[in-house]
Amino acid sequence: MKQIKPFGPTFHLGEMIETVEKIGDPLFRVTTDRGKVFETKLVVIAAGGGSFQPKRPPIAGIEPYEGKSVFYAVRRMEDFRGKNLLIVGGGDSALDWTLNLHPLAKRVTLLHRRDEFRAAPDSVNKMRALVASGAMDLKLGQVTALEGGDGMLTAAAVKGTDGSASKVACDALLPFFGLTMKLGPVANWGVNLEDDLIPVETASFETNVPGIFAIGDINTYPGKLKLILCGFHEGALMAQKAFHYVFPEKRLVFQYTTSSTNLQKKLGVA
Ligand SMILES: Cc1cc2nc3c(=O)[nH]c(=O)nc-3n(C[C@H](O)[C@H](O)[C@H](O)COP(=O)(O)OP(=O)(O)OC[C@H]3O[C@@H](n4cnc5c(N)ncnc54)[C@H](O)[C@@H]3O)c2cc1C
Repeated sequence: MKQIKPFGPTFHLGEMIETVEKIGDPLFRVTTDRGKVFETKLVVIAAGGGSFQPKRPPIAGIEPYEGKSVFYAVRRMEDFRGKNLLIVGGGDSALDWTLNLHPLAKRVTLLHRRDEFRAAPDSVNKMRALVASGAMDLKLGQVTALEGGDGMLTAAAVKGTDGSASKVACDALLPFFGLTMKLGPVANWGVNLEDDLIPVETASFETNVPGIFAIGDINTYPGKLKLILCGFHEGALMAQKAFHYVFPEKRLVFQYTTSSTNLQKKLGVA
């Protein structure tokens, strides 16, 4: 971060690029999972092995509820104020969100398949104290079906660990079943893929789509090594071609930090 500071880049952290559409020659529209939209002359994909995606619970018909009343992450706690929440899981995420959302939700039910938790003992103790005082519910079992309409939940059918069947009235379901590394949305951006990697040519690390580059662990070419050093090398070569997309009228001047006073001033070492 210190090295990059003199160049004044803008960061957008904690969000995922969902779509990349070609809208010109070359011009792209890029959207994030939080609804930000960018129009850019080029795209550099440095997505490594992909992104961590939440593991879906095995509940038939869950898809229409996702993003409306089934959430795999909490973006804004306020969205859950006054609601009946069913939180599912036994790890730190499930326990942390149970404790954090409990004060503002109407009622929280934590559902886990057994009476043992993989979360921090302190969180488990706090949760058990809330259950003992009647401030929230703990159920042992699994969700078998969802009830509701238009993406909005009204209840979840639960099969208890003891074989019993019951229903939990809820406005939102928050399953925390862990994360898995997946290529994710990159697969839908129109670039060629080979075994979940993006083939590039090694003069500029451009993909089959002019204006879309791929550097670092996500790309593949003969002799590829997944090393930080290689990612930096690929970034340097990519920038040579990318410059011409951004500034078609400008001449690219190649400079060394050892001899360029311009660069030394920028880096604060002149
Ligand atoms: C155990 C281990 C040890 C290693 N040790 C070394 C070492 O000693 N020396 C060395 O040189 N290399 C080492 N490596 C390799 C090195 O870690 C990788 O080569 C390097 O991290 C690759 O960098 P990257 O930026 O391409 O990908 P990553 O570091 O994987 O970063 C990719 C980022 O993109 C994000 N992303 C993915 N999809 C999206 C999306 N759709 N929208 C937004 N963001 C997205 C991911 O969340 C991630 O943060 C090691 C690797 C491993 C696994």
